[in-house]
Amino acid sequence: MPTIHCKKCTPEKACGDYHLYVIEFHSNVEETYQNKSGKGYLYVGSTSKAVEKRFEDNFIKIEGEWKYNSPNAKRIRKYFKKFRPDLLYENINPIPKPGKNDKGMVERREGKLADRLRNRGYRVGGPSWKKMKKNK
Ligand SMILES: [Zn+2]
Repeated sequence: MPTIHCKKCTPEKACGDYHLYVIEFHSNVEETYQNKSGKGYLYVGSTSKAVEKRFEDNFIKIEGEWKYNSPNAKRIRKYFKKFRPDLLYENINPIPKPGKNDKGMVERREGKLADRLRNRGYRVGGPSWKKMKKNK
């Protein structure tokens, strides 16, 4: 059975291509942000794993240490509300594996999606395509 994130993945087996995903945080996550949003708080990420699998990885400890412990991983552990596949633009997943000459492609798509959601009034964790362009 496909997942809500990708019609080629199953929860147990990833399709081998890349995926973007959007997580919605509980509103009390706003205590961790200086700039508040009236619309809501999201996180945009990307993974070559099945999205469910990548999510579970946030809760794995290796020798007592979290496998992922970025500020966003901490927020996901504490404030995860639900996935918002409805906020991905149509049929974005799966994203074909980028070629050798275009390794930044997935991150670019990720940043563009995050910027689009920011433009709609959400506070969004994750990369920004606008910032990536500026830093070139
Ligand atoms: Zn997939």
